[in-house]
Amino acid sequence: MSYDTNNIFAKILRGEIPSFKLYEDDYTLAFMDIMPQADGHALVIPKFEAVTLLDIPADQLSHTMTTVQKVMAAQKSELGVEGVVLMQLNGEGAGQSVPHLHFHLIPTHLSKLKRH
Ligand code: 5GP
Repeated sequence: MSYDTNNIFAKILRGEIPSFKLYEDDYTLAFMDIMPQADGHALVIPKFEAVTLLDIPADQLSHTMTTVQKVMAAQKSELGVEGVVLMQLNGEGAGQSVPHLHFHLIPTHLSKLKRH
């Protein structure tokens, strides 16, 4: 599948639409999901133009996963969550709705559940 430069995350990367940024470096951007599946649901994307995991070179993927680690560490230390679900969908058939590679970091608030 060819890369659509008008997808919503490409627009976020270009600053054409706003996002709540958590972290940015030369290769990656992390920001809050607009429709969070849990409190603190974050997204990490490469700046490299990839639609799915099959479209990104290893060095760019490595940068992306390093950012995933940084954001996950912040979720654990700053939000105090007990766990984080890492989710990543590839292709419309898998439910991918935005055609720019992205990793979901979805905190699990197990401590809250245990109190009830
Ligand atoms: P997918 O279903 O493709 O794996 O996930 C796409 C994610 O992008 C969804 O969780 C959705 O809420 C999020 N999303 C879609 N549009 C926007 C947007 O304009 N801003 C932000 N921050 N997140 C978005």
